[in-house]
Amino acid sequence: MKRFLLGLGAALILLLAGAWLMRGEIAVRLMGRIYDRAMTASPADGLPDGLHVALCGSGSPMPDPSRAGPCTAVLAGQRLFVFDSGAGSVRNLSLMGLSPFRVERVFLTHFHSDHIDGLGELMLQRWAGSGATAPLLVHGPKGVETVVGGLMTAYGLDRNYRIAHHGEAVTPPAGFGGQAVAFEALSGTDDVVLIDEPDLKIRAFPVDHAPVSPAVGYIIEYKGRKAVIGGDTNVSPNVERAARGADLLVHEGLSLRLVGIQQDAAKKAGKANLAKILGDITTYHTDPEAVAALAAKAGVKTLVFTHIVPPLPLRSLEGPFLGKSRKVFKGEIRVGQDGDMFTLPAGSEDTKRTNRLKRFF
Ligand SMILES: [Zn+2]
Ligand SMILES: [Zn+2]
Repeated sequence: MKRFLLGLGAALILLLAGAWLMRGEIAVRLMGRIYDRAMTASPADGLPDGLHVALCGSGSPMPDPSRAGPCTAVLAGQRLFVFDSGAGSVRNLSLMGLSPFRVERVFLTHFHSDHIDGLGELMLQRWAGSGATAPLLVHGPKGVETVVGGLMTAYGLDRNYRIAHHGEAVTPPAGFGGQAVAFEALSGTDDVVLIDEPDLKIRAFPVDHAPVSPAVGYIIEYKGRKAVIGGDTNVSPNVERAARGADLLVHEGLSLRLVGIQQDAAKKAGKANLAKILGDITTYHTDPEAVAALAAKAGVKTLVFTHIVPPLPLRSLEGPFLGKSRKVFKGEIRVGQDGDMFTLPAGSEDTKRTNRLKRFF
């Protein structure tokens, strides 16, 4: 028996040593399998029919190594939509299995740079990766034409290089860039209906991000499930109205307490400009406790914070970030992370959270 165990131990050591020596080749085979799967995968693979809301970027303009700029992806059944396109979010989309090639339309909430600085990359990826023959539709309040046109100008030289290199069949000139679809969204007026189909409705509504105007949020309804994206906003009765009875509210959060600490540090360091900006931003964003109160009044089921300000490098800062939010709002609260996906199956009241950035590991 002892000899058998010794033999077994030696065989195991040899096996492990062999695997260690072959680790590069094993990793290459694994990589091949991951690519095989990724190349043939569809964004909705493995998901029930329903509304799926995912954070392709939960950050803000402040540098945060764990968060891309603002971006929320929505899968309604098989159809993929993107709301805002911040820096780093297009890479997240790919890593989350929500291929930029499959994006049907983009919706912008407003034109602060952090919400549009991934849009050029998204338009280019979707065109070159899918051989699109028509530009990407980019919905937004008035001003969206300027943003889309400007990015197309900036990417114009790259467009020509790609066509020269890959040929018109692979990169059809007519599919380059985006097509702006501007709408009016004024306070006190009705929501703007952007998609009105039997199973899918997408509407825009004005929010309060003054002096940034227009600025909007979006209501997405699919087969009886409802999600609302607040965009950048101060406490807004319009968001409360839009979010009434929503299964999911994705709302920005700026902690007044934590930004106050940043501002004090800026003052102590004699950085008057930065201190002024850190004071100004508190007037057009919303503290998490106020969001929680709004969500409670609106009867929201799940509240997800995104556009997290300031960055939270330690998970233990989530408590101070939320303050008394959990006392105010009794539903599920999540301080959003990049990769989070909230699945709202059709014909059900369930909400399930997964993280699409962690699925391969
Ligand atoms: Zn923003
Ligand atoms: Zn903004």
